[in-house]
Amino acid sequence: MDRQQEYVLRTIEERDIRFIRLWFTDVLGTLKSVAVAPAELEGAFAEGIGFDGSAIEGLARVYESDMLVVPDADTFQVLPWRGENPGTARMFCDIRLPDGSASMADPRFVLQRALGKAADKGLTFYTHPEIEFYLFEKDLKPGQPPTPVDQAGFFDHVPHGTGHDFRRSAISLLEQMGISVEFSHHEGGPGQNEIDLRYADALSTADNIMTFRTVIKEVALEQGVFASFMPKPLADAPGSGMHTHVSLFEGDRNAFFEAGAPYQLSTTARRFIAGILRHAGEISAVTNQWVNSYKRIWSGAEAPPYVCWGHNNRSAMVRVPMYKPSKGQSSRIEVRSLDSAANPYLAYAVVLAAGMKGVDEGYELPPEAEDNVWTLTDRELRAMGIDPLPASLDHAIHLMEHSELVAETLGEHVFDFFLRNKRAEWAAYRDQVTQYELDQYLGRL
Ligand code: GLU
Ligand code: MG
Ligand code: MG
Repeated sequence: MDRQQEYVLRTIEERDIRFIRLWFTDVLGTLKSVAVAPAELEGAFAEGIGFDGSAIEGLARVYESDMLVVPDADTFQVLPWRGENPGTARMFCDIRLPDGSASMADPRFVLQRALGKAADKGLTFYTHPEIEFYLFEKDLKPGQPPTPVDQAGFFDHVPHGTGHDFRRSAISLLEQMGISVEFSHHEGGPGQNEIDLRYADALSTADNIMTFRTVIKEVALEQGVFASFMPKPLADAPGSGMHTHVSLFEGDRNAFFEAGAPYQLSTTARRFIAGILRHAGEISAVTNQWVNSYKRIWSGAEAPPYVCWGHNNRSAMVRVPMYKPSKGQSSRIEVRSLDSAANPYLAYAVVLAAGMKGVDEGYELPPEAEDNVWTLTDRELRAMGIDPLPASLDHAIHLMEHSELVAETLGEHVFDFFLRNKRAEWAAYRDQVTQYELDQYLGRL
């Protein structure tokens, strides 16, 4: 047993923790949890806890369904909303096969493998997400749009507003779990909020996002509201993005920083952006994985439908934030396509792989988009060489099917499962006859 594992066992005893939740994530990004008694933990660290993987979406075919979850002691945290005496704690787990090897179907492993490839080149991938979500009245009426808890807008201060108290409770729980919050505010839509997590290595960030979603749901229950990370819940209000600021470090040195270069961006940073742009279409089904994701991209104010980059240009898919000399080597880029309902492990794996491909193969960065691309015509965009992102999940699936980059990054098992699952999602959606169609066509034709 290593020191961190010993620390976990000691803490459990000292703080009278009787339930340990072992958390892991399925291919579609749903958090799974199995609770074990403290007495099981030593064995869990040594050999894992067995469970039937075939019961979990995307995890195993039935004939290889025995799986193990092995807790990662570094992720041990007490769950503050469960109270003390006795308390409840959680750890994220790696999923293994009975012979101890990593399960190819574990999204956490997919990200670890992508990070490992960058680490072989001496690079660490740091991320910091801006997570947007909506708060609605909890009584949802079937067949009707949800009702936002307020009518406020961007950065509005709402005295006694639900969002205010909500954000305060959520941030306090997150901080108690060791997750630092950098920034929080009311977002552009009614009832829409944003909380930005402090930067961390991408694996910690992905774990933190899974924790974040759980915390938000817990606070919503406690405050009698309904929280949603759906990419575009309201037809006439912005969607919920998960813009992510990314950078590569070589030891203590920010590999994206070069003093005196345009926007202080190093060649590595320029190639990384070029990689993300060139592969944006084929990674879309992963960064924007739901039918509804494409409604945010195409009709959500401030979401990026066009593949381009810009400096402080909020219409661009990749934005280079203003450089502040006081922040030293804080050079980073903001990827704005991701939405709040992505599986963060898989999404960060494909973003990193796309960027690294640009670095490894020395891609040339196209000129920046200085205009507001939302106002340009299709012809102007074509003349500037700016492609659109996929228009639908169907389109995104077709691009992903031919992507060597995504196949290699996700691994064969996740790649095949994901495509099969998403084709079924698209088919189910395509087979609907919507109210919109009835309103448009029934009387007219
Ligand atoms: N809600 C917007 C989106 O869907 C982003 C708004 C902002 O710039 O923060 O991406
Ligand atoms: Mg925002
Ligand atoms: Mg942003």
